[in-house]
Amino acid sequence: MSWLAVAEAIEALEPARLDRELVDRFARAPHNARGINFYTPTFKAYASSEISSCGKNAWPAVSITGGACKLQCDHCKAKVLEPMLPATTPEALWRVVNEQLELGAKGMLLTGGSNHRDEVEYGPFLPVVRRIKDAHPGFRIAMHTALVDASMACAMEQAGIDAAMLDVIGAQDTVSQVYHLRRPVQDFERSLENLVATSMKVVPHIVIGLHYGRMLGEWQALEMIARHRPAALVLVVVMPFYAPAGRPFATPSSREVGRFFLDARAALPELPILLGCARPAGRVKLEIDAYAVMAGLEGIAHPADGSVELALGLGREVRVTPACCSIAVGEEVLALADPAAERIDPRLVVEAERRRTSRLSRIPVVAA
Ligand code: SF4
Repeated sequence: MSWLAVAEAIEALEPARLDRELVDRFARAPHNARGINFYTPTFKAYASSEISSCGKNAWPAVSITGGACKLQCDHCKAKVLEPMLPATTPEALWRVVNEQLELGAKGMLLTGGSNHRDEVEYGPFLPVVRRIKDAHPGFRIAMHTALVDASMACAMEQAGIDAAMLDVIGAQDTVSQVYHLRRPVQDFERSLENLVATSMKVVPHIVIGLHYGRMLGEWQALEMIARHRPAALVLVVVMPFYAPAGRPFATPSSREVGRFFLDARAALPELPILLGCARPAGRVKLEIDAYAVMAGLEGIAHPADGSVELALGLGREVRVTPACCSIAVGEEVLALADPAAERIDPRLVVEAERRRTSRLSRIPVVAA
């Protein structure tokens, strides 16, 4: 059975319009037989197919600037910071972390808005980070580093940061126009180099379609990453709804995103590549997720309905981890080797998807 026929037989994928030529290229590519891990919230929450349960996850996101950011990038305008827990002083960070520990947090994403140089000013907070790690060595801290010089990367390592995450941009025009940043694009690679020189797990991200929904520097970003040795690569797709009305973003086409998956897989054959939870919703998500499965990516956060069934149908070894937003905080890299990690039987997920998307369930019931 051809891969397209496998996909077309899955009811949940019916709305998808998969590109035949691209699907054939996936089927011929050498990396499509790898295992794949799907990261979902708990099974119960997953069954409702919503990301809204993220707020209760064991990995809270904490912002050291609250909702403030001087950079105001066109795709974000600091909106990403709004739902995070604010901890704008070192004392507040200590208090927030202890509160979250009481609530059962296993780790956190530490982030914040940038200054005009795309640096998050973590300096005064690092002694508290060290204190947290000394008091709670098992508490994992993933940090969105933004741009760093070598001494800041070392200071982060010495504070005990477990995972360092950085958006890698490959086009100067994107740096100047979308980020409003007056720094050379090479500074992104230098920052990556500085981070990789430490013992932290480094997880660069590429935001596909960051240049107003167009592909521009994504392939250069891949080349930059290929020159270093990070722990994994996370791909996300720009979310146009964060953009202001005056600078609209197109929704990247799923075909372009799928082709980029193929190129990323070929450029970084040994590196785990994961699809993070940020990507547009609707039909385009169905298609993007199907292409991610076919391209041989190792992980998908919040998979669209039909993705797990597709992976099983293509003979991939499938694992489902009930983790919410784990890719966003680097947990997948920190916990991949953890044999105690909870797993869901993928067949249960497929059954739930089939119930949800069954034609019968869409027939309205008329009460007498
Ligand atoms: S620097 Fe980060 S938080 Fe600030 S606007 Fe840009 S993407 Fe958003």
